Amino acid sequence: MIYLDHAATTPVPPGVADAVRGALVNEFGNPSSQYPLGRAAKALVADCRAVVADALGCRPEQLVFTSCGTESDNFAVRLAAWQGRHAGKHAITTAVEHSAVLEPFRQLEQEGWTVTYLKPDKNGNVTAAQVAEALRPETALVSVMLVNNETGCVFPVREIADVMRDAGSKALLHTDAVQGFLKLPFRADTLGADLISVSGHKLGAPKGVGALYIGERVRNPRPLLAGGGQEEGRRSGTEATAQLAGFAKAVELRRAGFEEKLAHMAAIKVYALDRLLALDGVVRVGGGTAPHILAVSLVGYPSANVVEDLGAQGICISAGSACHRGKASHVYEAMDLPKKVKAGVLRVSFGPETQESDVDALAEALRRHRDTRFPML
Ligand code: PLP
Repeated sequence: MIYLDHAATTPVPPGVADAVRGALVNEFGNPSSQYPLGRAAKALVADCRAVVADALGCRPEQLVFTSCGTESDNFAVRLAAWQGRHAGKHAITTAVEHSAVLEPFRQLEQEGWTVTYLKPDKNGNVTAAQVAEALRPETALVSVMLVNNETGCVFPVREIADVMRDAGSKALLHTDAVQGFLKLPFRADTLGADLISVSGHKLGAPKGVGALYIGERVRNPRPLLAGGGQEEGRRSGTEATAQLAGFAKAVELRRAGFEEKLAHMAAIKVYALDRLLALDGVVRVGGGTAPHILAVSLVGYPSANVVEDLGAQGICISAGSACHRGKASHVYEAMDLPKKVKAGVLRVSFGPETQESDVDALAEALRRHRDTRFPML
């Protein structure tokens, strides 16, 4: 199999699977239990928190573990909305966020909030100037992702924090860094965001674990899940010790030789651009600079058919985000791509283990598809 869909999810390295199994079998106690088995599980959770916090560049107590990136995003939007609820109920986000951010914003609209959706340019980028222009005295929340999951565009979160500060805004800044964590070198303590969402399964951890960084400007965080008071009362629910062990191990493995891994992915992306754009009928989509995500279009060839055809040959790529399940992507819609380019968009995404030969196989399969299938009229 040739796996070129690392933005959808990633393979779990054996070391991570071992860590998960170890926690399941040996440290199965409830971290709240007051005997050695429980204390061992509690210590495991603390160790995992220290590892992930160190990678994110924050203090362990600033990190709340969640069940996924989606939960982290929902939690962040809810936290900021709660804190800013008396300020006038205005929020800003982009039209190209993941649905894990857009849907909570739709809920806010149903509750009487006004939301400004920033439109990207034709390359998929949004600017800090757009945020500055949209800011109002009553803005309570700005949410702008760090890396777009469909185009690989890197959004200027640090600059956005600066323009918000310069404008004297009291709004909280959230960034969905699910596609940025350990794909770009950034630190929570210098990024300038108050809330940062991450997810484990985009970097080799099992699915079903994530984290939310909660900075100092977030006062009295109101839990999304209320109950037994775990995670310092910020997120109840018995800690998912095995997922956390896998998350921490995946983070450790990714950080080993981190710079080389980033450089490798970036080089593979350059190679893929060369190989794919050399094919007649393939164009680049957007100007994404993240090292692991590349969007192209086999113009006029419906992407669902391409994904299906290549999948049958053991080549995994995506027609945009895996979460769309065949629906037209709001991201490419917002970029105003020409109809036939939009129809043919393919997302190819790389991991540290991707080889040039994987890209060669993809290029060959795309060429065959183009030569043996009919394009749309
Ligand atoms: N945000 C972005 C940018 C994503 O790409 C994804 C997953 O594809 C999510 C959020 C949701 O993360 P999870 O799958 O852990 O819920």
